[in-house]
Amino acid sequence: MSHPLLDLPPLTAERFAAIERRVAALLHTEQDVVITQGEALLPLEGCIRGGARPGSTALNVVTGPYGQTFGNWLRDAGATVVDLEVPFHAAVSAQDVARALSGHPEIDFVSLVHAEAATGNTNPVAEIGEVVRSHGALFMVDAVASVAAEPLLVDAWGVDLCVIGAQKAMGGPAGVSAVSVSERAWRRLADNPAAPRRSYLSLLDWKERWIDAGRKALPHAPAQLEMLALEACLERIEEAGLDAVIARHRAAAAATRAGAAALAAVEPYVYRDEDAAPVATTLRTLDGVAADGLVARALALEPGLPLVAGGGALAKEMIRVNHYGRDADPAVVVRTLRTLAGVLEADPEPAVAAADAAWQV
Ligand SMILES: *Cc1c(COP(=O)(O)O)cnc(C)c1O
Repeated sequence: MSHPLLDLPPLTAERFAAIERRVAALLHTEQDVVITQGEALLPLEGCIRGGARPGSTALNVVTGPYGQTFGNWLRDAGATVVDLEVPFHAAVSAQDVARALSGHPEIDFVSLVHAEAATGNTNPVAEIGEVVRSHGALFMVDAVASVAAEPLLVDAWGVDLCVIGAQKAMGGPAGVSAVSVSERAWRRLADNPAAPRRSYLSLLDWKERWIDAGRKALPHAPAQLEMLALEACLERIEEAGLDAVIARHRAAAAATRAGAAALAAVEPYVYRDEDAAPVATTLRTLDGVAADGLVARALALEPGLPLVAGGGALAKEMIRVNHYGRDADPAVVVRTLRTLAGVLEADPEPAVAAADAAWQV
């Protein structure tokens, strides 16, 4: 019996290389792109274990849970870590980063999450990149939650290591990811005796066995279904136009923020519009309303809604409205607001009207 997912011919090196080039175009980069065969935590860990080592000092910007994970890996790799923690209702500013760098001239690695799906904020990578470049540190950015949801200009912004995943705004599976690697970053990894080698975490293995060998033979069998799905994501984004996809995510977030502001018992968690991530809108519950209970009641009414309660300690006070991929849609936003209004026993019409007025593409 034939099956669309089974008995596929092997993915060729040419096709793999072509997908890499399309990812590079998506990131606006001329740098090497390595498509990593696993969830985005794989290249993120590979970047940190390759870029940091005993003797290095890293500035780790923490604007959500992923920054905390990076700090642990950095310490694990033997680096001295300067954590710059920012409250989850805000973004980090270039001035904050500049202050941290001038307080610690020895910093040679900076890790930053562009947009945080978990806390709903987004950070000004362009301005931070300028500050990091003039300091001379290597700049790693986790763009998993920003790619295809907001502009991401890797070369113009001076990002040395930029990690993306397919599972958020690209609307793809979680099992494939990619990282762009600047010349400077390759040198840094090559100079690090502790950088992973002969390891699934090793970017240098990919450089030696795939890139420097002329991209003629893949080092091992690629995750074929995920590669095909990534190719389909890229095709769909190219067809719709990247700018249109970005505009749709931005509109979904703006409409959700505006609508939520019109509901009495919740408010946007992130204070300033410009700090709010297009990929997910976080809401704070007021008057002691428990966020997790509210989300459970909403999902009982409308099981498909892109709603989750905040993770860990945030479960009581944070609701997350995801706008990934197809959920960045006016009908989904309106249905979400109506359902939230229903469980809050509030009039939905002002929220819907505010959301409609704010939806601009
Ligand atoms: C979603 C996301 C990832 C991927 O992590 P998962 O835990 O697999 O979802 C990494 N970084 C950021 C900023 C993300 O939003």
